[in-house]
Amino acid sequence: MNPQLLFWIPATLRLSFILIASGICWYFFGPIIGLSIGLICLIALIVIQLKYLYLLSAWLDHPDSEKLPDGWGAWTDIFSRLYRLRRDDERNRTELTEWLARFRQAMSLLPDGVVIMDDVLFLEWCNPAAERHLGLNNSRDKGMRVTNLIRSPDFIDYIILGRYEQPLTLSLKDRKLIVHIIPFENRRQILVTHDATENDRIEMMRRDFIANASHELRTPLTVINGFLEIAQTQPDLDQTIRMSHLKLMIEQGQRMQNLVEDMLTLTRLESIDYPVRPEHVNIHNLLDQIKQEADALSGGRHEISLMIDGPDIEGSTDELRSAFSNLVSNAVRYTPAGGRIDIKWKNTEAGPQFSVKDSGIGIRAEHIARLTERFYRVDKSRSRETQGTGLGLAIVKHVLLRHGAVLAIESQPEAGSTFIVRFDKNSTDGDMVRALEN
Ligand code: ADP
Repeated sequence: MNPQLLFWIPATLRLSFILIASGICWYFFGPIIGLSIGLICLIALIVIQLKYLYLLSAWLDHPDSEKLPDGWGAWTDIFSRLYRLRRDDERNRTELTEWLARFRQAMSLLPDGVVIMDDVLFLEWCNPAAERHLGLNNSRDKGMRVTNLIRSPDFIDYIILGRYEQPLTLSLKDRKLIVHIIPFENRRQILVTHDATENDRIEMMRRDFIANASHELRTPLTVINGFLEIAQTQPDLDQTIRMSHLKLMIEQGQRMQNLVEDMLTLTRLESIDYPVRPEHVNIHNLLDQIKQEADALSGGRHEISLMIDGPDIEGSTDELRSAFSNLVSNAVRYTPAGGRIDIKWKNTEAGPQFSVKDSGIGIRAEHIARLTERFYRVDKSRSRETQGTGLGLAIVKHVLLRHGAVLAIESQPEAGSTFIVRFDKNSTDGDMVRALEN
């Protein structure tokens, strides 16, 4: 029914009832009684209306704490309509609060920084990534001018010029940031920051890798080309000299092959689409094979021992073979003749552990943290002499990373080195990286 009618009908009925009652009293008891009854009824009606007006006013003062009163007459309808309005309002408010919380959470998870500024560049809001990137603090800096907070001349020039079609590249606190400014409603502006430090680092690593790989390949190629030119220009070269040239060319060819194979192994290991497919790794078979290879590489120049006192593990046999044999072959290659090499597999409280201890040339402390970098060598000429590619420990690092294992290196110059691989039960990839990079 029309709400207006709901209001007017009972009011009209009540007034008509008072009019009829006082008319009847007038008729039977005279005008004084009739008018008095009418007046009393009207006063009672006004008192009731005042009471509900008072209740309404009290409720309007504290709508959250006071319960809406039950009404009488037209008030019932007014109160029930107010109740409905209030319920809708509460629902909208809850929805809005939930939406705002979701929006804030999404914004706080964004890897990119977002800063909202008003028309005069005062900070209205920023997310945690923007706090990290720009050194802002959302609660402390609210209402402050952004150009007073980000005191980079490049940034200030960018704001003054206002040419926002091109992003700004900003170097701030060891970070490289790409900054975009997007104007939106009422001349407000959104500032978006993207941290490009990691991309830059990867790009630099890629450039270094290509430069190093080209350099590594150029040396043997130059040697081979040189000998081929000699063979072409001097066909009557002495047989013994020719044989020695051929031997050197084969060595250089082998070096290039080792390098290409190591690069392919690294690329395969780094590929995220290529996770470890765990299988049972027979440690006895694996280490026996590696020991035989080490004996062959050593050619009897070293005393090599193998001790196995630990369980088999789950992992990739091929990858672990590559990692362990790299460590063992390094021990052979960097230990002068007559030295000792002890290969051990044992069980510890934290989990199984592989170690290779040699009595070789050792490594100075300042090199240890960098050994797993690609192409990093303590002594370049020694590594080349022993057919090293400079990629062995980088391969070890990746294999261990993929197996959740940790590499520890203990070494002293002239006293030998120990490379320990811990398959800690509780280790995570993050720990592994830290252990390797520290
Ligand atoms: P490379 O192919 O040159 O041996 P690696 O990545 O295997 O490359 O090793 C990196 C460097 O670490 C080596 O060039 C060498 O200087 C040093 N190194 C590795 N293992 C040993 C070791 N057992 N003793 C001494 N130095 C070592």
